Amino acid sequence: MSGQKCNYFNCGKSKRNNPDLSFHTFPSNEHTMKTWIIHSGNIALDNLSPKKLRKRYICSDHFDKNMFMNLNQKVRKLIPNATPMKYAMNNSGSSPKYENSETTNFETPVKKMKPVEIQGRILDFDTKSVVHF
Ligand SMILES: [Zn+2]
Repeated sequence: MSGQKCNYFNCGKSKRNNPDLSFHTFPSNEHTMKTWIIHSGNIALDNLSPKKLRKRYICSDHFDKNMFMNLNQKVRKLIPNATPMKYAMNNSGSSPKYENSETTNFETPVKKMKPVEIQGRILDFDTKSVVHF
């Protein structure tokens, strides 16, 4: 059984090159399957038949620790209805994609700091002449 390769967007890791990872086939449950496709960010998978999808893999990189039944064992098993983490398009920043309350450690304010910093520098420059001590 060679050729296990991750179908997660921008991943493409293979079992051969990453023996420490476990590779998980798409679930047979249609609803969960859809969720996997969406979360994987690899929309092209949506064109595949369920039969073909069952031969595709997502590597353990994309699953939260609590999605595994037996993290410590070599052959990891996913809990029923486990879903991979959502592929996050961090660049857009405007997508509050995390409906799950479990995964809301998402810090957006950090992004706003940058322009402020630049402004601060400019302000700093200006205020040099106006410093009142
Ligand atoms: Zn992967």
